[in-house]
Amino acid sequence: MSDKPEKFIDENGLRLDGRRVDEIRPMKMEIGVLSRADGSCYLEWGKNKVLAAVYGPRELHPRRLQKADSALIRYRYNMAAFSVEDRIRPGPSRRSIEISKVSREAFEPVVLTHLYPGAVIDVFAEVLQADAGTRTAAINAACMALADAGIPMKGLVSACAVGKVDGQLVLDLNKPEDNYGDADIPMAMTSDGEITLVQMDGDVTPEEFKQAIEMCKEGCRQIMELQKETLKNKFTKLEDVEISDDEEEVDVSALVESTLEPSGDDVEGEEESEDKSDDDADQEEEVEDAGEDSVDEPGPESEDDEDEDLDSVESHSDFEAVEMVEDFEESFTDVDEEDATEDEDDEEKA
Ligand code: UDP
Repeated sequence: MSDKPEKFIDENGLRLDGRRVDEIRPMKMEIGVLSRADGSCYLEWGKNKVLAAVYGPRELHPRRLQKADSALIRYRYNMAAFSVEDRIRPGPSRRSIEISKVSREAFEPVVLTHLYPGAVIDVFAEVLQADAGTRTAAINAACMALADAGIPMKGLVSACAVGKVDGQLVLDLNKPEDNYGDADIPMAMTSDGEITLVQMDGDVTPEEFKQAIEMCKEGCRQIMELQKETLKNKFTKLEDVEISDDEEEVDVSALVESTLEPSGDDVEGEEESEDKSDDDADQEEEVEDAGEDSVDEPGPESEDDEDEDLDSVESHSDFEAVEMVEDFEESFTDVDEEDATEDEDDEEKA
């Protein structure tokens, strides 16, 4: 670990990495990076590199863990052994269990879990390279992976931290500021500024705390812009697929049916079903590792055909993602939850 710097902010008001006190590190993100996950996101924020994957909603086994009126969300934050200079001991630690719990609670309020009773949504965040602010980076990536999976949400959640160095508040701490600063306050917020996570390490005055919230709001606003932009880019590309270059009209309903209905081969083909059972076995392994704070270890998925009647619980196809584009802007402002529920109910009935 490097030594404590004499000064964190120079006479021009610039930090060690050249940023202003209210400036976040450069961030970039990409969604849909993992083909086997229902939703995924790769995010770089300064030197942080995080990969998030979402599986579900899918039926939760064992059944005794199911919630009758909503889906269960499990979240696992994990730092790869090679993510920092000193090797991290693999497996859950007190720190990672705590971060997993508070991070899940940070985005859970925006997920419309009541649409999927009995289901589970598994969210994994793997920190590949850590450089301070990994829990907030992971929340931003996880939220994008949820949106990429087409999971209905009231809006997005964005997260960043505020800290204090040289007696001044600074936005989005870098490593030396995190290690040697006077305070570290990670926060997460919804698009309307509702705080869903706040932690504090160190000391600030009540006045500074209020100021920290305002700084964080601005940081989260900038991150949310990027999140929206990333989603728009993907969904616009999907929309483009439907418009053929030779100006022929595309039969969208035929496209929908071919997307949603599995072909006979998919269902009956022996090879396919063997492959699928391999995949299922792999995924079951992953789920067994998931959610250290869950009530119990999830068991293997049921093989009963009747249990496969999971239309309402299956993950969303790309087509549903395309549908979301039309209501995209609205979905990130004020969605009337009841309307959303009714719409979903109607779809299920249909
Ligand atoms: N860190 C580390 N080893 C650990 C935990 C953390 O080297 O076991 C480093 C890592 O770079 C991390 C930083 O310390 O990003 C700050 O950790 P903190 O617990 O404050 O969480 P974060 O800021 O990453 O959310």
